Amino acid sequence: MQIKSAEFIVSNSDASKCPNTMIPEYAFIGRSNVGKSSLINMITSRKNLAKTSGRPGKTQLINHFLINKNWHLVDLPGYGYARVSKKEKKYFQKFITDYFEQRRQLISAFVLVDCRHEPQPIDVDFMEYLGEREIPFSIIFTKADKLKPNALERNIEHYKKTLLEGAWYEFPNYFVSSSSKSIGKEDILDYITQINANLEQ
Ligand code: GDP
Repeated sequence: MQIKSAEFIVSNSDASKCPNTMIPEYAFIGRSNVGKSSLINMITSRKNLAKTSGRPGKTQLINHFLINKNWHLVDLPGYGYARVSKKEKKYFQKFITDYFEQRRQLISAFVLVDCRHEPQPIDVDFMEYLGEREIPFSIIFTKADKLKPNALERNIEHYKKTLLEGAWYEFPNYFVSSSSKSIGKEDILDYITQINANLEQ
């Protein structure tokens, strides 16, 4: 897919106020600093579409971008547990769960994880949350330039093993990316193109 246009549409803190159109959308989510803004800028070939920064406490907004005038790229804020109840049950922030439970336009999500790190409980829990609600998603292993190829492969294998020993029968679809080496862009865009083409049929 060639990116001909990428426009910022709107930011919202409330899922119910997101654009009321039937344009298919793809959401990108992950813990803060995972490389989400850099990945969004890489795949859209724009330097500053998503704001990169290491600053913690960035405003938590749901950002819609219109790509090639036919699909929405949604930049979601980094997730966190909202609170821990007496029974130790953890919840994700409400505006994030509202987004996933309310957006009929959502076609698929991309959950970003740093390829260098052990599977983090919050990421694994979030994938389970999506799985339980049958929300399609792919994993993106970011910052692949930071590892040698065999270390990367080892980490992905370890991730697979962790998920398959947990709640999963099958490892989710996944991509490997590096924004600094421009890796993964074509694969991710081809994947979205393919789904959009099927939707139009
Ligand atoms: P966000 O908080 O998830 O949006 O993460 P950012 O895109 O702002 O990136 C966080 C930090 O990781 C920044 O210092 C980026 O320069 C760095 N970073 C992001 N992607 C990559 C990558 O693919 N490779 C390397 N080496 N660094 C990256």
